Amino acid sequence: MNICVFAGSSSGRRPEYAQAARQLGETLARRGLGMVYGGASVGLMGAAADAALAAGGEVIGVLPRWLDRRELAHTGLTELRVVASMHDRKAQMAELSDAFVVLPGGIGSMEECFEVWTWSQLGLHAKALGLLNVAGYYDRLDGFLDMMVEEQFLRDSHREMLCSDSDPDALVEALLTLEMPQVEKWF
Ligand code: AMP
Repeated sequence: MNICVFAGSSSGRRPEYAQAARQLGETLARRGLGMVYGGASVGLMGAAADAALAAGGEVIGVLPRWLDRRELAHTGLTELRVVASMHDRKAQMAELSDAFVVLPGGIGSMEECFEVWTWSQLGLHAKALGLLNVAGYYDRLDGFLDMMVEEQFLRDSHREMLCSDSDPDALVEALLTLEMPQVEKWF
């Protein structure tokens, strides 16, 4: 099984973020789960990949050719897939993966997270997705998503598709055991 990791290309302000990224990489390797991610050597992306590799795990990176210089392709991966576009990148990452973990990150990580979540909502796949809520980074997003449910723009059953935990191992365990609800999108 492969777990896709979406993560910041920056490391963020707090050391807890990189620490959680490393813990996640180690957890995946220890559990015998492959890691799929964006292929960069920088930020939390690189930290998670380095830790997974150091713990003996397999890591596949998927990086658009033109992004190579900015995000600095990781040279020590099990496999680096060089693709043409951002859309190809996301499609390959999703296809290779059985579930998704979102570490703290910026708009790139958010975009990736929301895309795979909307695919679940539309029934295009049924793959579990979870936020690694390090140091309360996603507290306000969680609150906003609850408000979406209250205001009836998001179904409870779709809300529940997005797990959240502050502990990497607990989050991975939850994703592996979660039964994804099969529900219609429309109210
Ligand atoms: P960020 O969270 O903004 O630091 O970005 C994390 C990763 O998401 C980086 O590898 C970005 O290149 C990537 N990313 C940003 N936008 C997109 C997109 N539209 N499709 C695929 N990957 C993206």
